[in-house]
Amino acid sequence: MDRRYWLNNSEIMISVSAARKIIQQAVTTLSPVQMNLQDAAGYRLAVDVVASLDIPAYPQSSMDGYAFSFSDWQLHSELLVEGEMAAGSHQQLALKPKTAVRIFTGAPVPDGADTVVMQEKTSVTNNQLQIHDEQLKQGANVRLQGSEIKTGALALSAGTLLTPAAIGFLAGMGITAVMVFPPPAVTIIITGNELQTPGQPLAYGQVYDSNSFALKAVLQQSGVKQVQVMKVPDVLDTLSSQLEQALQQSDLVLLTGGVSVGDYDFVTEAAKRCGISARFHKLKQRPGKPLFFGTKDTKLVFGLPGNPSSVLTCFYMYVLPVIAQMIKGQNGLSIIQAPLNKSYQKTTGLTHFLKGYYDGQTVSALGAQESYRMRSFAGANCLIELDEEVTDVEAGTLVSIHLLPV
Ligand code: AMP
Ligand code: MG
Repeated sequence: MDRRYWLNNSEIMISVSAARKIIQQAVTTLSPVQMNLQDAAGYRLAVDVVASLDIPAYPQSSMDGYAFSFSDWQLHSELLVEGEMAAGSHQQLALKPKTAVRIFTGAPVPDGADTVVMQEKTSVTNNQLQIHDEQLKQGANVRLQGSEIKTGALALSAGTLLTPAAIGFLAGMGITAVMVFPPPAVTIIITGNELQTPGQPLAYGQVYDSNSFALKAVLQQSGVKQVQVMKVPDVLDTLSSQLEQALQQSDLVLLTGGVSVGDYDFVTEAAKRCGISARFHKLKQRPGKPLFFGTKDTKLVFGLPGNPSSVLTCFYMYVLPVIAQMIKGQNGLSIIQAPLNKSYQKTTGLTHFLKGYYDGQTVSALGAQESYRMRSFAGANCLIELDEEVTDVEAGTLVSIHLLPV
């Protein structure tokens, strides 16, 4: 009998591309929240932002020089310098006929003046201003009120990514808070009786927990702010109750370890007890063949492998796109093609993700690819993806690489 007839769907080993589709379809954006503008870089606007005032708020000089009425100057050619407007000046000057006002960049242009001449193109004798600028046009060097944006106009539309420039633009309108799509609240559950906390002495048989550190670091880099870590022994009841609690407190749960088929691997069983529906559990990939993905309502659960290198690779390949989709409407890491600088042996059947180094021209697969090792990962700047059906890859072949954030 075909194993498929009696295996639960989630137990069928699926391809990387199928897994990506299943995950993408399960992602929903969270309800918008208000965030301080200063904290909102990298998030996506959830609602349109409309200007509530004109910017500039008044006609503004863009030069150090003299403000005057262009038609007045054409009639009289010499103007008497009277009054001064510096940036920040509150006085509301009105220009008198046949006069010019000394003015500085950013200062309000007085009522009655419509043009500013830069000081380098003038001379002043006995307080009489002469203008030596043949090219000067009416309205020169004056930033009109509302020329950046007018009251009631759409400043940025919903969906806009808040880049540093967008943050500056909004701050320039006096805005201090924005509605954005928030990052998910995340719980990391590390499983394993052998785990010890770094900083404590390592007893025989113990392993330092590095997964929670790497995950917290990469979550922080991905824009996630709310992260809690639970450390759970390999005990089904304990794991189930902790997972239940994590589901109540977070939008995304990341477990590490215990996802395989060993006697102490309880992640899938605990997920079942918590009413999580398993979407897949086995992927045609290396590293990370056992990778659990499940959903409960809008909550997403990843049972990542235990080996540190698999954890981080699976995070970049599957979890990061979820977070990026939620907060940015984007896909995760950028992918480019680069020639492989040395041949690589591979059989068909599994997609390989290799820690790589891209020097701007070619990409090299690094040493220490084994999933328990982080040493070469620490110096990697990309992950090379070799498709399931690809066999040996010759040097010079173009391969897809996922650029890691720095
Ligand atoms: P498991 O899938 O639970 O059998 O774990 C696979 C391997 O990953 C074992 O060698 C574990 O000791 C190791 N491992 C599991 N969790 C962690 C962790 N949090 N930090 C470092 N190594 C871990
Ligand atoms: Mg374990």
